[in-house]
Amino acid sequence: MSTTPRGTIALIAHDHRKPALIEWSRYNRSVLVQHRLIATGTTGTLLEDALEHPVHCLHSGPLGGDQEMGALIAQGKIDLVIFFWDPLAPMPHDPDVKALLRLAVVWNVPMACNRSTADFLISSPLFLGDEYAREIPDFSSYNNRFSAPEE
Ligand code: PGA
Repeated sequence: MSTTPRGTIALIAHDHRKPALIEWSRYNRSVLVQHRLIATGTTGTLLEDALEHPVHCLHSGPLGGDQEMGALIAQGKIDLVIFFWDPLAPMPHDPDVKALLRLAVVWNVPMACNRSTADFLISSPLFLGDEYAREIPDFSSYNNRFSAPEE
């Protein structure tokens, strides 16, 4: 039986962190499948296989997937980010990674970058529940900072 997804979860893992994300996702499958899942290309393909559940795949991260995910965050289309990035390896697309992390902070999107934080988030009673309305920052004064002052 399919039900309306409760929210949209972004899942991304760098190569050395993919096994950890897949293991975590398998463990939490019953919760994850209640949501729309979206991932960078390689992560998404592996997850779809591991979860036997559809995952919307963007481009692979280094090929633009991280930027696509950042754009979705800025458009308000992502409710939660699980991003197991690799702290021990430089990436060719480090600027894109940094941009994605930055946008999640700008838009106040909950984000876990390691397993224990992911465990805390997914077991929180606030986890994409109806009773928690994430505050979406109001950037109108920033957007209007060059407007003409009122007469
Ligand atoms: P990938 O991209 O899922 O396509 O490997 C992840 C990343 O490196 O950002």
